[in-house]
Amino acid sequence: MHHFQYKDGTLHAEDVPLTDIAAEVGTPFYCYSTATLERHYRVFAEAFEGTDTLVCYSVKANSNLAVIKTLGDLGSGADIVSEGELRRALAAGIPPERIVFSGVGKQAQELAFALETGIHQFNVESEPELELLSQIASNMGKEAAIALRVNPDVDAKTHEKITTGKAENKFGISWLQAPRVYARAAALPGIKVAGVDVHIGSQLTDLAPFEEAFTRVASMVEELRAAGHDITRLDLGGGLGIPYRGTNDVPPPPADYAAMVKRTVGHLGCQLMFEPGRMIAGNAGILVVNVIFEKHGEDRSFLIIDGAMNDLIRPTLYDAYHDIQPVTETAPDEARLTYDIVGPICETGDFFAKGRTLSAQKPGDLLAVMSAGAYGAVQASTYNTRPLVPEVMVNGSQFTVIRPRPSYDVMLEQDRLPDWLTN
Ligand SMILES: *Cc1c(COP(=O)(O)O)cnc(C)c1O
Repeated sequence: MHHFQYKDGTLHAEDVPLTDIAAEVGTPFYCYSTATLERHYRVFAEAFEGTDTLVCYSVKANSNLAVIKTLGDLGSGADIVSEGELRRALAAGIPPERIVFSGVGKQAQELAFALETGIHQFNVESEPELELLSQIASNMGKEAAIALRVNPDVDAKTHEKITTGKAENKFGISWLQAPRVYARAAALPGIKVAGVDVHIGSQLTDLAPFEEAFTRVASMVEELRAAGHDITRLDLGGGLGIPYRGTNDVPPPPADYAAMVKRTVGHLGCQLMFEPGRMIAGNAGILVVNVIFEKHGEDRSFLIIDGAMNDLIRPTLYDAYHDIQPVTETAPDEARLTYDIVGPICETGDFFAKGRTLSAQKPGDLLAVMSAGAYGAVQASTYNTRPLVPEVMVNGSQFTVIRPRPSYDVMLEQDRLPDWLTN
């Protein structure tokens, strides 16, 4: 469910016509719906009402301060993977005791900063990281609450680039090594073993892989408790998928996910932590682009648009499907054409959709690339010296630019000429 709907023939974000935003901001731009962000957070959090739960929004999905603060104001915590994201979460007002630090390559200064801040938990992914954290924490006279991210070796059955819980993936500590690494952690100064962490992948559209992983984790908790560890927290990661193809792929509703969680790990009495990213932000954002040319080739027609792979790389990187809707509603009897929808970048991989059937589009028409709120703007670059795509947030009938499009002057100012070229 999201709040991008046609009203009087024009696609709106909540109560704002996208044509109004395009007129003011120019294209391309990302547009986020506050009501949709809030709804998704609430649906997830409410599914766990009555249990000791900490929902830590995965900041990497969409890290604009306005997005983080919208969720933080509802009680969300933050799952962060870098010092930069930690600084964003803090700047957005997320209290440190609701922040968890994930990631395979945390560096010494990042760990020190997080310890200084007093975050809730470090999700440790290797023995060297554990040793580094112990050393830094004990030097600082602090104690780091940790969970080990265990790799349950289950197949999440999602795209290979977003599968993280198989033995061959770089993530987490292998199932067989985990008991030994827990024993080591318990003996290290500055470390307090608090929980077990698992995250098997992203865009999961079936509960079975989660259930398999969580069942394994539950037996791991029992084994660790029997070995004398005080396991009080379970971080079950993120990964719930979203419908990218309208009603054709329907991921499990949060209520079913919650029922499965309670069934598999509820008896352990742990604080339950979650790190949803895509499920919160994905359908709360769209990318609005403008048609530059309609080009008819030998065997296909192209719509060349002003958005490109540098603005939204998901189709190129993950073979992702994004629904594309004309901002002007198509009349029921209007003729349809089949297009490849491509950007201006000098790469064959620069496309948003292939063989897509739409009403006839002409230069100046606006298109909305749906479900672009997660892993969209955060992965944008300036390739081809294209300015970073701006972000707009809508709330009811209001909208505001939450990250402006940089000017060419600002972009060029970043480069420095060495002395030997200027003398
Ligand atoms: C990316 C990531 C998430 C969020 O995944 P979603 O599929 O967006 O919910 C959560 N936890 C970790 C450790 C991650 O790397």
